Amino acid sequence: MTTLELDVAVVGAGFGGMYAVHRLNELGFAVHAVEAASDVGGVWFWNRYPGARCDIESMEYSYSFSDELQQDWEWSQRYPTQPEMLAYAEHVAERFDLRRHISFDTRVVSATWDAPSRRWLIATDTDLRLSARFCVFATGGLSVPRVPEFPGLDDFAGDVLLTAHWPREPVGLTGKRVGVVGTGSSGIQVIPHLAQQAEHLTVFQRTPNFSISGANEPLTAEAVREIKANYPALREHARRSFGGSTIPINRVSALAVDEQERARTFEQRWHMGGFAFLAAFDDLTLDERANALAADFVRAKIRAAVDDPEVADLLTPRDHPIGSKRICVDTGYYETYNRPNVSLVDLRAEPLEAVTAAGVRVGGREIDLDVLVLATGFDAMTGALTRVQVCGRDGRLLRDEWADGARSYLGLMVEGFPNLFTISGPGSPSLLSNAILAIEQHVDWIGGCLAHLRDTGNVTIEATREAQDRWVAHVRSVADRTLYPRANSWYMGSNVPGKARVFLPYVGGVGGYRKKCDEIARNGYDGFVLAGADGRTPDA
Ligand code: NAP
Repeated sequence: MTTLELDVAVVGAGFGGMYAVHRLNELGFAVHAVEAASDVGGVWFWNRYPGARCDIESMEYSYSFSDELQQDWEWSQRYPTQPEMLAYAEHVAERFDLRRHISFDTRVVSATWDAPSRRWLIATDTDLRLSARFCVFATGGLSVPRVPEFPGLDDFAGDVLLTAHWPREPVGLTGKRVGVVGTGSSGIQVIPHLAQQAEHLTVFQRTPNFSISGANEPLTAEAVREIKANYPALREHARRSFGGSTIPINRVSALAVDEQERARTFEQRWHMGGFAFLAAFDDLTLDERANALAADFVRAKIRAAVDDPEVADLLTPRDHPIGSKRICVDTGYYETYNRPNVSLVDLRAEPLEAVTAAGVRVGGREIDLDVLVLATGFDAMTGALTRVQVCGRDGRLLRDEWADGARSYLGLMVEGFPNLFTISGPGSPSLLSNAILAIEQHVDWIGGCLAHLRDTGNVTIEATREAQDRWVAHVRSVADRTLYPRANSWYMGSNVPGKARVFLPYVGGVGGYRKKCDEIARNGYDGFVLAGADGRTPDA
């Protein structure tokens, strides 16, 4: 056994963990990270499926903490591909010499608060142990893939591939009969690519989703120059914005304009591509009638894109307000169904009964397959934290505390778990915003907090029950004022059987959230109890 004695243990070396290592190291803390993968990158390390691409623009979905980095790095496209994101992560690790602070191929299995020593004792699946004053979980919100329990899955004679754990070596699909289950963001991205390679592609769809074209394009030298010249101001704008980007929100109700103006605005936003569509008016995720107008516009686009009206009908979402599930951003998704080698199976009409050795049985008929691709989602936002045995004060287990829904103060700390921080935890804007910007805000706040504890002679910090209860109630009441809780989405935990239904992210906007976090810190960490080595608050 090797035990590292540290100030801070970081779990995960995706974009959150990498920046935590860099920032906390820069602040003079002894930091070490543990990562299950063999290298940095997190989601961008694992999700190597063909067509994987970020749904936020590259010039925004990137670190802002180093101006030299953002000036030097050259993004090639408006929406970065997975290989480009991974190359960027590798570059950052190299540039800031991060790998020497990270143990790869090592998975944290437990983290236990040792009250007498006021340290977190962390065990891994190797002989590495960590003993640290603080523990930062940077385990990502979409890092635990869900594999549905299809009867017979183990009997399938062909290959089963998960989009979320796609093999590193190239997968040959030419001449193969491929099936794909799942039509969320991952499915919608991979399907056009599978269709180009497979002899035949069968898409097994349970629920159709709204997808907007990403209108991806190469970045011109002029566009890059202009952004780089204005980077500090653009980043600041994103930090103060609602969604963590510079996408302009049209501050007008969809109901306040006439039909022509509305159609013109939707059309213009449709051509801008991606999330800009949801900002066509400022009440699309708040007002049912406004939302219905946007949804109708997209439904008409689906009918126009798909040749076969019956297929178009099956692809048309009707069970949730547009945007209440994370909108998908695609490249040629709906048009893929016009190809002769693609067929769509509606699992609502023909339920998936079993996977057999030869393929999949749906509605009593067999569909023969050589490869089955599962794009079936994640145990989002809490899955990575509840899978580790996190044991806090008085033997309290995080997974028990969260059994009826995640509870956290600001998505940063949990009552009963002193000195433990979660990056982009439930109750923070996290995945409802530009994730890298959200990560930077959390890491900077944690860095400020640890420096404050050091400067004031405190050794522990813990959220109070009252502050946490107030924040949880606030997160829920803000969500209830929107249309988000109306969908069976991973935001609600609805995609995981048995998971509590609670709206997990904070939908109050990243600008306001940042202000709140900063105010709390400025006021001496309102809602937290800080204590010195003797268990007392030194300045009390
Ligand atoms: P997802 O949105 O949860 O979609 C999972 C899909 O699998 C759904 O269509 C779901 O159908 C289907 N499914 C699950 N269990 C099933 C079962 N037992 N039988 C049949 N179908 C089943 O997951 P995802 O597509 O991986 O996306 C998750 C999130 O990751 C996204 O919302 C996004 O935030 C992120 N992501 C981003 C990008 C990007 O940046 N472009 C790409 C990929 C993912 P039901 O809806 O009926 O449950």
